[in-house]
Amino acid sequence: MNKSTGIPFLDLVTLHADLEDELCGVLKQTVRTAGFIGGLMVEGFEAEFATFCDAQCCVGVGSGTDALRFALVAAGVEPGAIVVTVPNTFIATTEAITQAGGIPYFVDVDERTYNMDPEKLREFLETECARDAISKRTFHKASGASVAAVVPVHLYGQMADMDSIMELAEHYHLEVIEDACQAHGAQYFSKIEQRWRSAGSIGKAAAFSFYPGKNLGACGEAGAITTNDAELAKRVRMLRDHGQSRKYFHDIEGYNGRLDSIQAGFLAVKLRHLAEWNTQRTAHAGRYNELLAEYADSIAVPYEPASSRAVYHLYVVRVAERDAVQRRLGAAGIGTAIHYPVPLHLQKAYQRLGYERGDFPIAEAVADRILSLPMFPSLTDEQQRRVVDELAAAASQVALGDFAMAVEPR
Ligand SMILES: *Cc1c(COP(=O)(O)O)cnc(C)c1O
Repeated sequence: MNKSTGIPFLDLVTLHADLEDELCGVLKQTVRTAGFIGGLMVEGFEAEFATFCDAQCCVGVGSGTDALRFALVAAGVEPGAIVVTVPNTFIATTEAITQAGGIPYFVDVDERTYNMDPEKLREFLETECARDAISKRTFHKASGASVAAVVPVHLYGQMADMDSIMELAEHYHLEVIEDACQAHGAQYFSKIEQRWRSAGSIGKAAAFSFYPGKNLGACGEAGAITTNDAELAKRVRMLRDHGQSRKYFHDIEGYNGRLDSIQAGFLAVKLRHLAEWNTQRTAHAGRYNELLAEYADSIAVPYEPASSRAVYHLYVVRVAERDAVQRRLGAAGIGTAIHYPVPLHLQKAYQRLGYERGDFPIAEAVADRILSLPMFPSLTDEQQRRVVDELAAAASQVALGDFAMAVEPR
């Protein structure tokens, strides 16, 4: 492979080269003041990120996984309670549920958006659960476990159908924690409220990851929770800092899950560019859609409903013989990835949950066909053309195919 003509899946070097002076300024300031933990850098970033998400509070933490775990604990998930999510997400979603004491329970996804299908959630709640008239709590009839929360994942930068999910959650008294780890700045048009709402402003709380490859990435590990509930924010502040209400006075047991000041400083610099980067990603997605339109019989482009303004953390197509297509692209010097190849209910780590192949047919069918194409703000028109040319050639070479979903359209 000729390096000069290769196209990476993700180019983080170009992005940071433009910001080098500003980022080094943060580093110098932090080293000179030795203000490594807490302080104005953290508080400043938290305030700016809350504003960006249209949320009242933001609490910086060590990672997106911390953010999910702390949000679930602070929202009151009790040991043994069921937390409902989707099987086609990064394992951090379910690790956080387990580590908060909950039991992950999956519902299948919508075949077009790959996000939680509210009808599947409704079906689970209506047929397998019951509400206790006195406590008003919902419990799972077969196991007797209480059902505490729902974690919709705004996958690939597109928000889940929050109106329907929030309505169900209200009816069944469930907390909603948004996994917004891929959706910084994504928006959803709420028909109930007749307005656009931002990821991280709708649920009881939301978790964001600032892993370097995310739309807003730190120069290391970082994450945050957003919420409109000041009490919940306060509990998360305690959880991230060993349960302290003040130094060495521990009201509860917590964790070491603080956001580094240096990372907060880096994030504040990068946050100023996030809206522009998201606009560039959206434009690239539109360009891919245009270029791929003529190959609609062998390549399915992402579906974006009218109620969504996605921020394209990932641009994910669906093809037949995905592995062969990916190999051909790799041989042509084009970096791609799969998010995610094995749904969580089929992972070895979750054998104990007792799921089988066939339990979530849409998530399983999707996993075999999806392919994430190069997507980053500095992606050029010429690079996109080459990706599409190579992809079209690769997709036409494989057995004509079953790139369509194996399920009947509704
Ligand atoms: C990245 C990610 C996480 C975890 O974030 P970390 O910062 O890596 O801990 C959780 N959920 C989803 C959907 C993610 O993409």
